[in-house]
Amino acid sequence: MPSRAEFAEVGDDVYVLRYPVLDVNATLILGDGEAILVDTLATAAQAEELAAAVRAITPAALTIVNTHHHFDHTFGNAVLSSPPRAIWGHASVAGLLRDRAEAVRRAAYEEALRLAPSIAEDLLTVPIMAPNATVRHESTLDLGGRAVILYYLGRGHTDGDLVVHVPDADVVVAGDLVEEGAAPAFDDAYPLEWPETVAALLRLTTPATSVVPGHGAVVGQNFVRGQHEELAALDWVIRDGHADGAPAERVAAKAPFGPEAALVAVRRGYAELSGRL
Ligand SMILES: [Zn+2]
Repeated sequence: MPSRAEFAEVGDDVYVLRYPVLDVNATLILGDGEAILVDTLATAAQAEELAAAVRAITPAALTIVNTHHHFDHTFGNAVLSSPPRAIWGHASVAGLLRDRAEAVRRAAYEEALRLAPSIAEDLLTVPIMAPNATVRHESTLDLGGRAVILYYLGRGHTDGDLVVHVPDADVVVAGDLVEEGAAPAFDDAYPLEWPETVAALLRLTTPATSVVPGHGAVVGQNFVRGQHEELAALDWVIRDGHADGAPAERVAAKAPFGPEAALVAVRRGYAELSGRL
């Protein structure tokens, strides 16, 4: 029943596969005899499907990049990094998937039960492989003569979001710092810092840049500007609400992104402002 997943070219030798379950994106960047795959989907079966889609485009060995630790971006690592090669991630992502893998797995299972119950069971058994090459601020990868830059621009969707810039193709892979087709997810987020991080991401873009969000359709600079404005508005609503001692539910009701997503954000923001996060 599921249609075969395929990559579509979004820039010179940069391809995006938009996977129907959770509407999540994986990005393939080709260099001379080498390739980078950004994010690896959630289950072994999904990762096998992704590997086949990669092989339809290139036989090159894959370097993996994880935009952040969430299961829909990392749990395919073991299938796609076989034989094992470099897996890049923020230092906090490497630590989390190495030292707290079973806690991450439990959180993934609980979330999948809500959002994608058909894959929840698979998450209990998929081998979790942590990044073995870490980024703290910025790392430039030489992809067979092509520069691909990994940036850590600050906390946002999580405390370890990487942004992948392919300057010669004018493509920025934003991970879940940018979300299309649904509200941003705040469960592990830092809503008071997220706007500044997206502002830094915007400085990598031009009006012609293709931005690959973690989920949904590829967008342009204007879409990211709009999301930045909403995140900044949310930031202020949270700060005002906290200063007034307003209940989180009341603040969320008038916040951007809808009351459900916003409530998670307001609670995270309040926790941060009270020094509990
Ligand atoms: Zn995420």
